[in-house]
Amino acid sequence: MNRRLAEGFSADITRTEHPAVRAVVALGANLGDRAATLDAAISELERLPLVDAVRASAAVESVAVKPDGPDADAPAYLNAVAILTTRLAPSVLLAFLQAIEARHGRERRERWGDRTLDLDLIAYGEVVSSDAVLTLPHPRAAERDFVLVPWLSIDPDAELPGRGRVDELIARLGDAP
Ligand code: AMP
Repeated sequence: MNRRLAEGFSADITRTEHPAVRAVVALGANLGDRAATLDAAISELERLPLVDAVRASAAVESVAVKPDGPDADAPAYLNAVAILTTRLAPSVLLAFLQAIEARHGRERRERWGDRTLDLDLIAYGEVVSSDAVLTLPHPRAAERDFVLVPWLSIDPDAELPGRGRVDELIARLGDAP
């Protein structure tokens, strides 16, 4: 248990019994030493309470996406995906992801802004939810090749709940005009 990460969470929250679920986390960094930041974040995921069996993809580089579309002038991203097993409730897992982001200096001044580290919860078991605080699966995952491609590389049978097989989603992105 990483004490600093657990700051702000009562022991009761992390002790809450919850069935073991497979979760998928997307990592992205476009400022600073991107590879070192992703490696550190993956280590921090491994040290979270009630999180086991973290498997991470290799990192891939991608063009930054802004509200108007891809922006080749912005610093490029390094992205990776981690699959893990957890007994944390989804809201608690999200809060831990945000704590890891904060530890890497992520500031939230601009919604689509450059960032030292961005962690998104892509899927949590089969849960489908439109709650704005935690939308599951992540609302833009199906359109993001920098999420789908590394995910498929570590799980050839990956499925995005409610959206279908990841290999088919990637093929559809390739067909898009
Ligand atoms: P972003 O700036 O893209 O990291 O978005 C962070 C905001 O999105 C936070 O307010 C989260 O509560 C919210 N959010 C909703 N669904 C998700 C999700 N599946 N993963 C991460 N953040 C989410």
